[in-house]
Amino acid sequence: MSVVSKIENVLTNAERLNDELNSFLSIERESALARAAELDAEPGERLLEGVAIAVKDNICTKGMRTSCGSQILHDYRAHYDATAISRLKDAGAIIVGKTNMDEFAMGSSNESSAFGPAKNPWDISRVPGGSSGGSAVAVASGVVRASLGSETGGSVRQPASLCGIVGFKPTYGRISRFGLVAFASSLDNIGIFGQTTKDVADVLTAIAGRDERDSTSANVPVPHYGSTLGNDVAGKVIGVPRALLGEGVDEEVRASIESAIANFESLGAKIVDVELPHAKYGIAVYYIIATAEASSNLARFDGVRYGFRAEEAAGLREMYFKTREQGFGPEVKRRIMLGTYVLSSGYYDAYYSKAQRVRALVKRDYTEAFTKCDAILTPTSPDTAFKLGERSDDPIAMYLSDIYTVSANLAGIPGISVPCGLSGDGLPFGVQLVGNFWSEQTLFELTHAYETAFPLGAKPAVFAE
Ligand code: GLN
Repeated sequence: MSVVSKIENVLTNAERLNDELNSFLSIERESALARAAELDAEPGERLLEGVAIAVKDNICTKGMRTSCGSQILHDYRAHYDATAISRLKDAGAIIVGKTNMDEFAMGSSNESSAFGPAKNPWDISRVPGGSSGGSAVAVASGVVRASLGSETGGSVRQPASLCGIVGFKPTYGRISRFGLVAFASSLDNIGIFGQTTKDVADVLTAIAGRDERDSTSANVPVPHYGSTLGNDVAGKVIGVPRALLGEGVDEEVRASIESAIANFESLGAKIVDVELPHAKYGIAVYYIIATAEASSNLARFDGVRYGFRAEEAAGLREMYFKTREQGFGPEVKRRIMLGTYVLSSGYYDAYYSKAQRVRALVKRDYTEAFTKCDAILTPTSPDTAFKLGERSDDPIAMYLSDIYTVSANLAGIPGISVPCGLSGDGLPFGVQLVGNFWSEQTLFELTHAYETAFPLGAKPAVFAE
Protein backbone atom coordinates (compact mmCIF):
# COMPACT_ATOMS: atom_id res chain seq x y z
CA MET A 1 0.00 0.00 0.00
CA SER A 2 1.36 3.45 -0.87
CA VAL A 3 2.06 5.92 1.91
CA VAL A 4 -0.50 8.25 0.32
CA SER A 5 -3.30 5.70 0.55
CA LYS A 6 -2.31 4.78 4.08
CA ILE A 7 -2.35 8.42 5.17
CA GLU A 8 -5.57 9.06 3.22
CA ASN A 9 -7.13 6.29 5.25
CA VAL A 10 -5.91 7.79 8.54
CA LEU A 11 -7.22 11.24 7.60
CA THR A 12 -10.60 9.88 6.55
CA ASN A 13 -10.96 8.03 9.83
CA ALA A 14 -9.84 11.08 11.82
CA GLU A 15 -12.38 13.29 10.05
CA ARG A 16 -15.19 10.75 10.24
CA LEU A 17 -14.80 10.04 13.96
CA ASN A 18 -14.12 13.60 15.03
CA ASP A 19 -17.79 14.66 15.17
CA GLU A 20 -18.35 12.03 17.78
CA LEU A 21 -15.03 12.05 19.63
CA ASN A 22 -13.70 15.62 19.26
CA SER A 23 -10.16 14.30 19.64
CA PHE A 24 -8.57 16.50 16.96
CA LEU A 25 -8.51 20.30 17.09
CA SER A 26 -7.02 20.37 13.60
CA ILE A 27 -6.55 17.70 10.97
CA GLU A 28 -3.64 18.55 8.67
CA ARG A 29 -4.85 16.89 5.48
CA GLU A 30 -2.89 18.92 2.97
CA SER A 31 0.56 18.84 4.53
CA ALA A 32 0.19 15.19 5.53
CA LEU A 33 -0.69 14.07 2.01
CA ALA A 34 2.07 16.22 0.49
CA ARG A 35 4.60 14.58 2.80
CA ALA A 36 3.19 11.14 2.04
CA ALA A 37 3.62 11.75 -1.70
CA GLU A 38 7.26 12.74 -1.11
CA LEU A 39 7.85 9.52 0.78
CA ASP A 40 6.24 7.48 -1.99
CA ALA A 41 8.52 9.16 -4.50
CA GLU A 42 11.62 8.43 -2.46
CA PRO A 43 10.98 5.36 -0.35
CA GLY A 44 13.28 4.88 2.62
CA GLU A 45 13.62 2.56 5.56
CA ARG A 46 13.75 4.84 8.50
CA LEU A 47 12.31 3.79 11.84
CA LEU A 48 8.97 5.60 11.42
CA GLU A 49 8.78 5.66 7.63
CA GLY A 50 5.27 6.77 6.67
CA VAL A 51 3.89 6.33 10.22
CA ALA A 52 1.01 8.68 11.05
CA ILE A 53 1.39 10.51 14.37
CA ALA A 54 -1.07 12.79 16.17
CA VAL A 55 0.38 15.54 18.37
CA LYS A 56 -0.99 17.30 21.43
CA ASP A 57 -1.81 20.92 20.74
CA ASN A 58 0.78 22.29 23.18
CA ILE A 59 3.72 20.99 21.13
CA CYS A 60 4.89 23.46 18.49
CA THR A 61 4.45 22.29 14.91
CA LYS A 62 5.62 24.73 12.26
CA GLY A 63 2.75 26.31 10.34
CA MET A 64 0.13 24.32 12.27
CA ARG A 65 -2.22 25.49 14.91
CA THR A 66 -0.83 25.23 18.46
CA SER A 67 -3.66 26.44 20.68
CA CYS A 68 -2.90 24.66 23.99
CA GLY A 69 -6.66 24.11 24.20
CA SER A 70 -7.03 27.79 25.09
CA GLN A 71 -8.96 30.76 23.79
CA ILE A 72 -5.89 32.89 24.42
CA LEU A 73 -3.99 31.00 21.66
CA HIS A 74 -6.99 29.91 19.61
CA ASP A 75 -5.54 31.07 16.29
CA TYR A 76 -1.84 30.83 17.12
CA ARG A 77 0.30 29.05 14.55
CA ALA A 78 3.76 27.96 15.62
CA HIS A 79 6.73 29.40 13.73
CA TYR A 80 9.01 26.46 14.39
CA ASP A 81 8.99 22.75 15.15
CA ALA A 82 9.61 21.42 18.63
CA THR A 83 12.73 19.23 18.66
CA ALA A 84 10.54 16.13 19.17
CA ILE A 85 8.63 17.09 16.01
CA SER A 86 11.69 17.70 13.84
CA ARG A 87 13.09 14.36 15.02
CA LEU A 88 9.82 12.58 14.21
CA LYS A 89 9.92 14.08 10.73
CA ASP A 90 13.58 13.07 10.31
CA ALA A 91 12.56 9.50 11.18
CA GLY A 92 9.95 9.51 8.39
CA ALA A 93 6.82 10.12 10.48
CA ILE A 94 3.90 12.19 9.25
CA ILE A 95 2.04 14.59 11.55
CA VAL A 96 -1.66 14.16 10.75
CA GLY A 97 -3.21 16.55 13.25
CA LYS A 98 -3.18 18.38 16.55
CA THR A 99 -5.15 16.96 19.42
CA ASN A 100 -7.57 18.23 22.02
CA MET A 101 -6.38 18.83 25.57
CA ASP A 102 -7.23 20.44 28.86
CA GLU A 103 -6.39 24.13 28.66
CA PHE A 104 -2.61 24.51 29.07
CA ALA A 105 -2.53 20.85 30.15
CA MET A 106 -4.31 21.61 33.41
CA GLY A 107 -6.83 18.89 34.13
CA SER A 108 -7.52 15.19 34.27
CA SER A 109 -10.59 14.92 32.06
CA ASN A 110 -10.10 17.10 28.97
CA GLU A 111 -13.11 19.13 30.12
CA SER A 112 -11.14 22.33 30.64
CA SER A 113 -10.45 22.56 26.90
CA ALA A 114 -11.81 25.78 25.40
CA PHE A 115 -13.01 23.66 22.47
CA GLY A 116 -15.17 21.16 24.34
CA PRO A 117 -13.99 17.82 25.72
CA ALA A 118 -12.74 14.85 23.74
CA LYS A 119 -14.93 11.78 24.42
CA ASN A 120 -13.89 8.33 25.53
CA PRO A 121 -14.30 5.89 22.61
CA TRP A 122 -15.31 3.09 25.02
CA ASP A 123 -18.33 5.14 26.11
CA ILE A 124 -18.82 8.61 24.69
CA SER A 125 -20.74 9.79 27.74
CA ARG A 126 -17.46 9.50 29.66
CA VAL A 127 -14.23 11.49 29.81
CA PRO A 128 -11.07 10.15 28.16
CA GLY A 129 -8.93 11.44 31.04
CA GLY A 130 -6.52 14.29 30.66
CA SER A 131 -4.87 16.45 30.05
CA SER A 132 -3.67 14.71 26.85
CA GLY A 133 -7.19 13.34 26.22
CA GLY A 134 -7.27 13.95 22.47
CA SER A 135 -3.96 12.17 21.86
CA ALA A 136 -5.17 9.19 23.91
CA VAL A 137 -8.45 9.03 22.00
CA ALA A 138 -6.68 9.29 18.61
CA VAL A 139 -4.79 6.09 19.48
CA ALA A 140 -7.57 4.29 21.36
CA SER A 141 -10.05 4.85 18.53
CA GLY A 142 -7.63 3.23 16.09
CA VAL A 143 -6.98 6.36 14.00
CA VAL A 144 -3.20 6.36 14.64
CA ARG A 145 -0.85 3.84 16.22
CA ALA A 146 1.01 6.46 18.25
CA SER A 147 0.74 10.04 19.41
CA LEU A 148 2.57 12.59 21.50
CA GLY A 149 1.17 14.02 24.70
CA SER A 150 2.69 15.91 27.58
CA GLU A 151 3.13 14.95 31.21
CA THR A 152 3.38 17.27 34.16
CA GLY A 153 1.60 15.07 36.68
CA GLY A 154 0.20 12.08 34.83
CA SER A 155 -1.37 13.56 31.72
CA VAL A 156 -0.28 10.68 29.49
CA ARG A 157 -0.47 7.72 31.88
CA GLN A 158 -3.92 8.55 33.30
CA PRO A 159 -5.74 8.98 29.95
CA ALA A 160 -3.92 5.88 28.65
CA SER A 161 -5.39 3.96 31.56
CA LEU A 162 -8.91 5.30 30.99
CA CYS A 163 -8.72 4.63 27.23
CA GLY A 164 -7.17 1.14 27.31
CA ILE A 165 -3.83 1.91 25.61
CA VAL A 166 -0.15 2.26 26.55
CA GLY A 167 0.97 5.63 27.94
CA PHE A 168 4.53 6.53 28.81
CA LYS A 169 6.38 9.31 30.63
CA PRO A 170 10.17 9.32 30.24
CA THR A 171 12.93 10.20 32.69
CA TYR A 172 13.10 13.99 33.03
CA GLY A 173 15.68 15.09 30.44
CA ARG A 174 15.20 12.09 28.13
CA ILE A 175 13.15 14.01 25.53
CA SER A 176 13.89 17.65 24.74
CA ARG A 177 11.23 20.07 25.91
CA PHE A 178 12.19 22.64 23.29
CA GLY A 179 8.91 23.65 21.67
CA LEU A 180 6.69 22.16 24.37
CA VAL A 181 4.67 25.07 25.73
CA ALA A 182 5.69 25.31 29.39
CA PHE A 183 3.23 24.55 32.20
CA ALA A 184 5.55 23.67 35.10
CA SER A 185 9.07 23.41 33.74
CA SER A 186 10.60 21.26 36.47
CA LEU A 187 7.84 18.64 36.00
CA ASP A 188 7.02 18.87 32.28
CA ASN A 189 7.91 16.10 29.84
CA ILE A 190 6.79 15.07 26.40
CA GLY A 191 5.13 11.66 26.71
CA ILE A 192 4.07 9.00 24.22
CA PHE A 193 0.89 6.99 23.62
CA GLY A 194 0.89 3.75 21.65
CA GLN A 195 -1.42 0.90 20.84
CA THR A 196 1.44 -1.29 22.07
CA THR A 197 4.74 -0.92 23.91
CA LYS A 198 6.56 -1.35 20.58
CA ASP A 199 4.86 1.76 19.17
CA VAL A 200 5.99 3.76 22.19
CA ALA A 201 9.53 2.33 22.11
CA ASP A 202 9.99 3.22 18.44
CA VAL A 203 8.77 6.78 18.89
CA LEU A 204 11.04 7.22 21.91
CA THR A 205 14.04 5.91 19.95
CA ALA A 206 13.35 8.53 17.30
CA ILE A 207 12.91 11.55 19.57
CA ALA A 208 15.05 10.97 22.69
CA GLY A 209 18.46 12.46 23.34
CA ARG A 210 20.43 15.59 24.10
CA ASP A 211 19.33 18.80 22.44
CA GLU A 212 21.40 21.98 22.65
CA ARG A 213 18.18 23.98 22.78
CA ASP A 214 17.02 22.43 26.06
CA SER A 215 19.65 22.69 28.75
CA THR A 216 17.79 20.16 30.90
CA SER A 217 17.98 17.48 28.20
CA ALA A 218 20.52 14.86 29.17
CA ASN A 219 23.50 13.56 27.30
CA VAL A 220 22.67 9.91 27.92
CA PRO A 221 23.02 7.44 25.02
CA VAL A 222 19.77 6.48 23.27
CA PRO A 223 19.45 2.73 22.70
CA HIS A 224 17.15 1.21 20.13
CA TYR A 225 14.36 0.77 22.65
CA GLY A 226 12.47 -1.73 20.53
CA SER A 227 15.42 -4.08 20.20
CA THR A 228 15.09 -5.83 23.55
CA LEU A 229 11.32 -6.32 23.59
CA GLY A 230 10.75 -10.02 23.90
CA ASN A 231 13.59 -10.47 26.40
CA ASP A 232 12.66 -12.82 29.19
CA VAL A 233 11.47 -10.89 32.25
CA ALA A 234 11.93 -13.84 34.62
CA GLY A 235 13.97 -12.73 37.59
CA LYS A 236 12.99 -9.07 37.38
CA VAL A 237 11.97 -7.73 40.76
CA ILE A 238 8.75 -5.76 41.08
CA GLY A 239 8.05 -3.75 44.21
CA VAL A 240 4.52 -3.26 45.47
CA PRO A 241 3.78 -0.41 47.91
CA ARG A 242 0.88 -2.16 49.66
CA ALA A 243 0.13 0.83 51.88
CA LEU A 244 -0.94 2.80 48.79
CA LEU A 245 -3.43 0.23 47.58
CA GLY A 246 -5.99 0.79 50.32
CA GLU A 247 -8.34 3.70 50.69
CA GLY A 248 -9.97 5.39 47.73
CA VAL A 249 -9.25 2.69 45.18
CA ASP A 250 -12.20 1.34 43.26
CA GLU A 251 -12.87 -2.31 44.28
CA GLU A 252 -12.69 -3.63 40.73
CA VAL A 253 -9.46 -1.76 40.07
CA ARG A 254 -7.97 -3.15 43.25
CA ALA A 255 -8.96 -6.73 42.39
CA SER A 256 -7.51 -6.36 38.95
CA ILE A 257 -4.25 -4.94 40.28
CA GLU A 258 -3.99 -8.04 42.47
CA SER A 259 -4.35 -10.18 39.37
CA ALA A 260 -1.80 -8.03 37.52
CA ILE A 261 0.64 -8.78 40.34
CA ALA A 262 -0.12 -12.50 40.02
CA ASN A 263 0.28 -12.25 36.25
CA PHE A 264 3.71 -10.69 36.55
CA GLU A 265 4.61 -13.44 38.97
CA SER A 266 3.52 -16.04 36.44
CA LEU A 267 5.91 -14.41 33.96
CA GLY A 268 8.71 -15.14 36.41
CA ALA A 269 8.96 -11.75 38.10
CA LYS A 270 9.67 -11.69 41.79
CA ILE A 271 7.32 -9.57 43.90
CA VAL A 272 8.61 -7.71 46.95
CA ASP A 273 7.10 -5.18 49.35
CA VAL A 274 8.39 -1.62 49.18
CA GLU A 275 7.51 1.49 51.08
CA LEU A 276 7.05 5.00 49.75
CA PRO A 277 6.25 6.80 52.99
CA HIS A 278 6.04 10.30 51.48
CA ALA A 279 3.93 9.39 48.44
CA LYS A 280 0.81 10.39 50.35
CA TYR A 281 1.96 14.02 50.20
CA GLY A 282 2.41 13.82 46.42
CA ILE A 283 -0.83 15.55 45.45
CA ALA A 284 -0.36 18.43 47.91
CA VAL A 285 3.25 18.97 46.88
CA TYR A 286 2.43 18.72 43.20
CA TYR A 287 -0.40 21.24 43.32
CA ILE A 288 1.87 23.74 45.05
CA ILE A 289 4.90 23.36 42.80
CA ALA A 290 2.95 22.98 39.55
CA THR A 291 0.78 26.03 40.19
CA ALA A 292 3.75 28.13 41.34
CA GLU A 293 5.66 27.38 38.14
CA ALA A 294 2.53 27.82 36.02
CA SER A 295 1.81 31.26 37.46
CA SER A 296 5.24 32.34 36.29
CA ASN A 297 5.23 30.55 32.91
CA LEU A 298 1.79 31.83 31.95
CA ALA A 299 2.74 35.46 32.60
CA ARG A 300 3.89 35.63 28.96
CA PHE A 301 0.32 35.44 27.65
CA ASP A 302 -0.45 39.11 27.89
CA GLY A 303 -2.09 40.07 24.60
CA VAL A 304 1.13 41.54 23.26
CA ARG A 305 3.32 38.67 22.19
CA TYR A 306 0.97 35.90 21.14
CA GLY A 307 -2.56 35.16 20.06
CA PHE A 308 -5.66 36.78 21.43
CA ARG A 309 -5.89 40.43 22.53
CA ALA A 310 -9.00 41.88 24.18
CA GLU A 311 -10.56 44.78 22.37
CA GLU A 312 -11.77 48.04 23.81
CA ALA A 313 -9.31 48.44 26.61
CA ALA A 314 -8.36 51.85 27.89
CA GLY A 315 -4.60 51.64 28.16
CA LEU A 316 -2.02 48.88 28.52
CA ARG A 317 -2.88 47.76 32.03
CA GLU A 318 -6.51 47.29 31.22
CA MET A 319 -5.59 45.46 28.02
CA TYR A 320 -3.53 42.96 30.07
CA PHE A 321 -6.38 42.47 32.52
CA LYS A 322 -9.07 42.05 29.91
CA THR A 323 -6.98 39.76 27.69
CA ARG A 324 -6.23 37.41 30.55
CA GLU A 325 -9.75 37.67 31.96
CA GLN A 326 -11.33 36.77 28.61
CA GLY A 327 -8.58 34.52 27.25
CA PHE A 328 -8.07 32.08 30.13
CA GLY A 329 -10.68 29.62 31.35
CA PRO A 330 -11.60 29.06 35.03
CA GLU A 331 -9.16 26.21 35.77
CA VAL A 332 -6.19 28.15 34.43
CA LYS A 333 -7.21 31.20 36.46
CA ARG A 334 -7.54 29.05 39.58
CA ARG A 335 -4.01 27.70 39.06
CA ILE A 336 -2.50 31.13 38.43
CA MET A 337 -4.11 32.46 41.59
CA LEU A 338 -3.02 29.48 43.67
CA GLY A 339 0.50 29.69 42.29
CA THR A 340 0.77 33.41 42.88
CA TYR A 341 -0.44 32.87 46.43
CA VAL A 342 2.08 30.15 47.33
CA LEU A 343 4.91 32.25 45.94
CA SER A 344 3.93 35.48 47.62
CA SER A 345 6.00 36.87 50.44
CA GLY A 346 4.84 35.57 53.78
CA TYR A 347 3.52 32.33 52.25
CA TYR A 348 6.56 31.29 50.25
CA ASP A 349 8.25 29.52 53.16
CA ALA A 350 5.07 27.94 54.45
CA TYR A 351 4.05 26.49 51.09
CA TYR A 352 6.47 26.63 48.21
CA SER A 353 9.71 26.11 50.06
CA LYS A 354 8.19 23.37 52.24
CA ALA A 355 6.81 21.63 49.15
CA GLN A 356 10.29 21.62 47.61
CA ARG A 357 11.66 19.95 50.71
CA VAL A 358 8.96 17.28 50.69
CA ARG A 359 9.61 16.77 46.97
CA ALA A 360 13.18 15.83 47.87
CA LEU A 361 11.81 13.25 50.34
CA VAL A 362 9.46 11.76 47.73
CA LYS A 363 12.46 11.37 45.45
CA ARG A 364 14.56 9.83 48.23
CA ASP A 365 11.87 7.21 48.90
CA TYR A 366 12.21 6.04 45.31
CA THR A 367 16.00 5.93 45.43
CA GLU A 368 15.69 3.77 48.50
CA ALA A 369 13.00 1.52 46.98
CA PHE A 370 14.99 0.96 43.79
CA THR A 371 17.81 -0.61 45.75
CA LYS A 372 15.38 -3.52 46.20
CA CYS A 373 13.52 -3.72 42.89
CA ASP A 374 13.60 -3.01 39.16
CA ALA A 375 10.14 -1.43 38.96
CA ILE A 376 7.30 -0.39 41.25
CA LEU A 377 3.73 -1.43 40.47
CA THR A 378 0.55 0.49 41.35
CA PRO A 379 -2.75 1.24 39.67
CA THR A 380 -2.37 4.11 37.18
CA SER A 381 -5.58 5.77 38.27
CA PRO A 382 -7.80 5.02 41.27
CA ASP A 383 -10.84 4.42 39.04
CA THR A 384 -12.15 4.01 35.52
CA ALA A 385 -13.42 6.76 33.19
CA PHE A 386 -16.00 8.96 34.91
CA LYS A 387 -19.01 10.62 33.33
CA LEU A 388 -18.59 13.95 31.57
CA GLY A 389 -19.51 16.69 34.03
CA GLU A 390 -19.32 14.41 37.07
CA ARG A 391 -16.29 16.13 38.63
CA SER A 392 -16.34 19.51 36.91
CA ASP A 393 -17.46 21.37 40.02
CA ASP A 394 -15.20 19.54 42.39
CA PRO A 395 -11.55 20.40 41.74
CA ILE A 396 -10.34 18.33 44.69
CA ALA A 397 -12.02 15.17 43.38
CA MET A 398 -10.46 15.92 40.00
CA TYR A 399 -7.00 16.46 41.50
CA LEU A 400 -7.23 13.12 43.32
CA SER A 401 -7.28 11.34 39.94
CA ASP A 402 -3.53 12.01 39.85
CA ILE A 403 -2.70 10.29 43.12
CA TYR A 404 -0.65 7.46 41.57
CA THR A 405 1.01 9.46 38.84
CA VAL A 406 2.31 12.77 40.24
CA SER A 407 5.12 11.24 42.32
CA ALA A 408 7.03 10.06 39.24
CA ASN A 409 6.99 13.64 37.92
CA LEU A 410 8.11 15.00 41.27
CA ALA A 411 10.98 12.50 41.31
CA GLY A 412 11.80 12.81 37.59
CA ILE A 413 11.66 9.06 36.97
CA PRO A 414 10.00 7.18 34.09
CA GLY A 415 6.58 5.54 34.27
CA ILE A 416 4.31 3.59 31.98
CA SER A 417 0.69 2.45 32.02
CA VAL A 418 -0.32 -0.73 30.22
CA PRO A 419 -3.91 -2.00 29.96
CA CYS A 420 -4.65 -4.60 32.61
CA GLY A 421 -8.38 -5.14 32.81
CA LEU A 422 -11.97 -4.21 32.10
CA SER A 423 -14.55 -3.26 34.69
CA GLY A 424 -17.96 -4.91 34.88
CA ASP A 425 -19.39 -2.14 32.74
CA GLY A 426 -16.75 -2.71 30.09
CA LEU A 427 -14.37 0.17 30.85
CA PRO A 428 -10.61 -0.36 30.64
CA PHE A 429 -7.99 0.53 33.19
CA GLY A 430 -4.24 0.25 33.41
CA VAL A 431 -1.50 -0.95 35.69
CA GLN A 432 1.42 1.40 36.17
CA LEU A 433 5.10 0.55 36.44
CA VAL A 434 7.60 3.22 37.43
CA GLY A 435 11.34 2.67 37.25
CA ASN A 436 14.61 4.24 38.26
CA PHE A 437 16.21 7.01 36.18
CA TRP A 438 17.01 5.84 32.63
CA SER A 439 15.37 2.42 33.12
CA GLU A 440 12.98 2.86 30.17
CA GLN A 441 14.22 -0.29 28.50
CA THR A 442 13.43 -2.47 31.50
CA LEU A 443 9.95 -0.95 31.78
CA PHE A 444 9.29 -1.65 28.11
CA GLU A 445 10.47 -5.25 28.42
CA LEU A 446 8.07 -5.75 31.32
CA THR A 447 5.02 -4.15 29.70
CA HIS A 448 5.71 -5.86 26.39
CA ALA A 449 5.82 -9.23 28.13
CA TYR A 450 2.62 -8.36 29.99
CA GLU A 451 0.57 -7.16 27.01
CA THR A 452 1.70 -10.15 24.95
CA ALA A 453 0.74 -12.69 27.60
CA PHE A 454 -2.37 -10.89 28.89
CA PRO A 455 -3.95 -8.82 26.13
CA LEU A 456 -7.03 -6.79 26.97
CA GLY A 457 -9.02 -8.70 24.36
CA ALA A 458 -11.63 -6.02 23.70
CA LYS A 459 -11.99 -2.96 21.56
CA PRO A 460 -13.77 0.34 22.19
CA ALA A 461 -17.29 0.92 20.91
CA VAL A 462 -16.00 3.61 18.54
CA PHE A 463 -13.08 2.20 16.56
CA ALA A 464 -11.72 2.87 13.07
CA GLU A 465 -11.10 -0.37 11.21
N1 GLN B 1 -3.98 16.29 36.00
C1 GLN B 1 -2.80 17.00 36.42
C2 GLN B 1 -3.07 18.48 36.47
O1 GLN B 1 -4.18 18.82 36.31
C3 GLN B 1 -1.67 16.67 35.52
C4 GLN B 1 -1.58 17.51 34.32
C5 GLN B 1 -0.47 17.15 33.43
O2 GLN B 1 0.23 16.15 33.62
N2 GLN B 1 -0.27 18.00 32.46
O3 GLN B 1 -2.22 19.29 36.71
